[in-house]
Amino acid sequence: MVEAHLNGVRRAMAAGWQVLSRGADALDAVEETVVVLEDDETFDAGRGSFLNRDGKVQLDALIMDGATLRAGGVGCVEHLRNPVRAARKILSESSHVYFVGEGAEKFAAQHGIPLCKNEDLVIAREVERLREFQAHAAEQKPNLFAPAISHDTVGAVALDRHGNIAAATSTGGTLNKAPGRLGDSSLIGCGCYADNKTAAASTTGWGEPIMKLVLAKWAADRVASGNLPEWVAAEAIHYLQSRVQGHGGMILLDARGRFGIAHNTPRMAWAVKTSADESSGIER
Ligand code: ASP
Repeated sequence: MVEAHLNGVRRAMAAGWQVLSRGADALDAVEETVVVLEDDETFDAGRGSFLNRDGKVQLDALIMDGATLRAGGVGCVEHLRNPVRAARKILSESSHVYFVGEGAEKFAAQHGIPLCKNEDLVIAREVERLREFQAHAAEQKPNLFAPAISHDTVGAVALDRHGNIAAATSTGGTLNKAPGRLGDSSLIGCGCYADNKTAAASTTGWGEPIMKLVLAKWAADRVASGNLPEWVAAEAIHYLQSRVQGHGGMILLDARGRFGIAHNTPRMAWAVKTSADESSGIER
């Protein structure tokens, strides 16, 4: 599914770029980018996500504004096509930061976000993937966290013309996870973080090790101490591997537009665009 991933991230990046081009905030850009990725069944976010042990889709998402440090997160939601939209509503319209389960869905519905059936989020490919996985789990102990097992969480970081950065991350979590399990993706500082004074970060990968290191914040803080995001992203992934045998990937961006992309998984699809690329017509 390499092509599908590349096309998906390029389409999402184009949507985010369009938002920035019309002068909107980085926050709007990361929201719209992640919505496109959630809507794309290729990825482990929104419809088409990995299924939990009970065969249900259970979603987590976080969005954070580097200018104000406002954040909104949802965890374990089962009836939202675009959890990042609910997270954004929490950021903008609630004095709270994080809602889970039914309370999160109720908040979303009260703020004009339609709920869907859980079955609407489940696709045949994932029913088959779970069936396969569970069939083998009975015979032998599979290594759920082998680097070859895909981690398909989605995320975006952006810098707008006002000099503000933002980040968003959205996921269906890990395959066959126990119901109620939260990963790193929607936890502030773990799978997502943004502060104009440091950096914006989004991670993908095996959530438990990432959480233990509070990796997104760890990386952002190192950018603040004068290191280049390119170097810090690589260091963060090295730290993840050496300290807790974790694997995953990170995108990292500071308010000067310097960025880093790193992963220790076999692959990670990413796309990037800068105003310099725009003027020179570069696509990457
Ligand atoms: N980081 C996600 C989680 O553990 C999973 C993934 O990236 O595939 O919830």
